[in-house]
Amino acid sequence: MIKPLLKILIKIFSKIYENRSIKDQIKNNLYDLEYYTPGFITELQGLSESTNINIKEILLSYNILKLSKNTSCTTSVVTKDATKKHNTYLIQNWDIPFYGKIHLLYLLFLYQRFKVCKIKNNNSYVFYGFPVLFELPIINEKGVCFGGNATLVTSDKKRYVDKGPGIPIYLLVRKTMRESDRISDVKNIWMNNLRSSNKSKYFPYFWDLASSSWADRYKNILIIEQSHNHIITVDNNNSEQFNGFKDVIWHTNHHKWLDPDVSGSEYPSIHTTSRIRNNRSYEYFKKHYGRIDLDTCKSFTRDHKYRFFNTYKNSNNICRHVDPCNRHGTLFSYIVEPEKYLINFCPGIPCKTKYKKIDCKKLLKIK
Ligand SMILES: [Zn+2]
Repeated sequence: MIKPLLKILIKIFSKIYENRSIKDQIKNNLYDLEYYTPGFITELQGLSESTNINIKEILLSYNILKLSKNTSCTTSVVTKDATKKHNTYLIQNWDIPFYGKIHLLYLLFLYQRFKVCKIKNNNSYVFYGFPVLFELPIINEKGVCFGGNATLVTSDKKRYVDKGPGIPIYLLVRKTMRESDRISDVKNIWMNNLRSSNKSKYFPYFWDLASSSWADRYKNILIIEQSHNHIITVDNNNSEQFNGFKDVIWHTNHHKWLDPDVSGSEYPSIHTTSRIRNNRSYEYFKKHYGRIDLDTCKSFTRDHKYRFFNTYKNSNNICRHVDPCNRHGTLFSYIVEPEKYLINFCPGIPCKTKYKKIDCKKLLKIK
């Protein structure tokens, strides 16, 4: 069922855009992928052979609908002293721009149920989405979990953007899930691999420059802000210094620790929705510090503190709704409890959708 449908969609979308300049960019990207991540080319070849569609067509069709480009999420990680019972939570609202009905159809097709990626001699992990083309890895068999935020890069041509070839961030996240047993491994992988910063953000570069949030079952938390040459890691040990509180870190869509003038991130004064959600996160965690539990995390994902334009629906809230000024809305949300290998998954806009529990111990066959 999936393969014939995928084949039809890819054929249609690659034909629509076959004359666009995007093709040259994909050619250049393929050259870089062969050099930095030959393993991924092997995976694409596998997909190409099983669907009888050539790799360039797969890449082309994927890029057209900007599937994971321009996401604009909110994430947080909390643990120990910040929580009621010293539990750990990773909280993610996955916010995307809504372009219309066809886009939504394609999204529904790609964002499918939870699956497990198993590779010999690597950690297995549970992901949401479609194998190879769009995997959102959430937790691995060692209890390391992931969330992420896109970074809005400046459109001001006079400003510097820290660009350069390396491993696309999407593939670095998958590598991290496969190779990490705890947060210290995550940090080492991100500090010691050449990270791509490709401003075009075509697949699989759509997560380049993004920040990532991590937690493990040993109550370690981490958020990484990065560009090609620069990186800052904020964890349990320095969260007070960087974020204001011990054992709570949150992030939106601008660089708040790296200097935007060296990374190329949009200034928070211009990227106002990111600044507003960041400030609201601070306010929320300050109010609930020491008392955070699963319900408090759920309330955070449903937060509607700001009601501009006299309307309930507003894209500046943590729970984002498309409004006249912004096409971004929350597509789904999840809260991971790594100690229990549980994903609390909300398959829709959080304020109107119930969370359901996904038992990853069962999926990963952990006894
Ligand atoms: Zn809402």
